[in-house]
Amino acid sequence: MFWGLLFVEAPARYCCQNSVCADYGKRGAKNLTVCGWFGKNQRIRLLYCRTCKKRFSERKGTPLFGLKLPPEKLLSLLEHVSEGCGVRKTSRLVEVHRDTVTRYTRAAGGHAQQLHDELVAFSPLDPRGPV
Ligand SMILES: [Zn+2]
Repeated sequence: MFWGLLFVEAPARYCCQNSVCADYGKRGAKNLTVCGWFGKNQRIRLLYCRTCKKRFSERKGTPLFGLKLPPEKLLSLLEHVSEGCGVRKTSRLVEVHRDTVTRYTRAAGGHAQQLHDELVAFSPLDPRGPV
């Protein structure tokens, strides 16, 4: 399922979010490692920057960061939208406000387009196995 990939991207996809770090904004600089998991069902990864020794959420700096919907609900929302459900219908089925549907669809849509080529080559293996 395509949308699932939004949550399991390789650390190299991210760049350090610490603006005073030497590797700030450099993607694929190999300074980032996954150092932990958090969030409901431990689905959001905590990334560690070897350069500045800071930790941050993998969502930081992506359009999905700061959007507070639980991943389960977000996935459901995006599935409905990608299946062709309109904003009103999706909002009713997923039980979120219409504005929320619009906001997430826009954020994920732009994100997905920008990631498209990279995701083709990406293997979404979770080292922890199925949850
Ligand atoms: Zn850093």
